[in-house]
Amino acid sequence: MLPQVASLILLAATAIAADLPLPPPMPAAWPPTDEASPIPENFLKDPLVTTALAYVQATVPPQYLNIPPSQYKSPCVATYPADTAATNCYWPNNLCVRTNDTAGFKADVVSCPGDNVWGLTYDDGPTVNVVNGQNQNDTPSLRAALDAMKLKATFFIVGANGLQNPEEIKKSFAEGHQIGVHTWTHYPATSLTNAQFVAEIKYTEAMIYNATGSLPIFWRPPCGDVDDRIRAIATALGYSTTLWTTTPVRDSTDADQTDASPATSQKIVDTVKTWFTAQKSFISLEHDISPFTSGIAINVLNEVKAAGANFPLKMMPVGTCLNQPFYRGNGTTPTSSTSTAPSATPTSVSTSTASSPASPSPTSGSPIAASAKSAGEQVMVNKVAAGLLVGVAALFALAV
Ligand SMILES: [Zn+2]
Repeated sequence: MLPQVASLILLAATAIAADLPLPPPMPAAWPPTDEASPIPENFLKDPLVTTALAYVQATVPPQYLNIPPSQYKSPCVATYPADTAATNCYWPNNLCVRTNDTAGFKADVVSCPGDNVWGLTYDDGPTVNVVNGQNQNDTPSLRAALDAMKLKATFFIVGANGLQNPEEIKKSFAEGHQIGVHTWTHYPATSLTNAQFVAEIKYTEAMIYNATGSLPIFWRPPCGDVDDRIRAIATALGYSTTLWTTTPVRDSTDADQTDASPATSQKIVDTVKTWFTAQKSFISLEHDISPFTSGIAINVLNEVKAAGANFPLKMMPVGTCLNQPFYRGNGTTPTSSTSTAPSATPTSVSTSTASSPASPSPTSGSPIAASAKSAGEQVMVNKVAAGLLVGVAALFALAV
């Protein structure tokens, strides 16, 4: 189809579609914090999801909506049909990114413009790790290290972790850090149905809104697992797909390690120190998912501090380096009802047709274990490096 025709169809569809309800209706309950499964089916019936899905179905061109899901294999691995991986720009297939806006989706964000700017991002939190009454190598201690250096960063949060540590979302936001969406369960997005993916975005968005009164416009696909279907749905929901710089490699690989030893930590910090040179601007990938990764992030900041005047880069959040607002509207002032009492319980409850959603969990303060995720990310990186990820696709091909 000609791009102009596609644009006209999209415009016409948008004109007749019901608006996307913003701010989102608060859900009747939050999904479980179990990251081993997609959001359960009954949570997809909440108006938070159904209204957004209806909008997506009315506005996203069918050629994107109809791209079949990949097959889930493990936390960071999906099996994608090899013959469509390039066509659909599946990122794990040769790190494919979309560099231009189209009628169906916005271009991916993969770097900051210009020279010598370091877009700082931390994924998978918030986490809390208290040892002898003190926060240690977790989101609060990373934030303290940033604040001591007067630095701001972008935190792409996982909703399931935010539900356990809602105060951390509010504190990071209040201190000027940017809070982006990293989905609720951290499932590979391409392995989800359209409804499941909408739910991943909307529940996480609702949680951020509940804690901050702001609606982000940046999301990061877990493990970089994204294709044109997911890009198009995210775009319809108002999001820019935000990856990280891969040329040169600006993934610290902190979450990929199976050996959480001091030697491995030091090795990663030493690698990141090689980034401390004048260069094209970039976006890094680090994590506050575990004491190991948060400790590395803090040690990297200590090295930046030690470099002093010799440090050639300016560190800043992604929205700032892009010179774009990070939130919709003014996005900096929490609205009245949600600014004062962020909690695991929604501030308002809408009527839900969900049959028996789980009750919102009380704040437990205990972070979700990251071992499976880290191992999964290791598997994924290995497979990407080996060029194997899209090599096996039989089941999915049958579904087409
Ligand atoms: Zn992640």
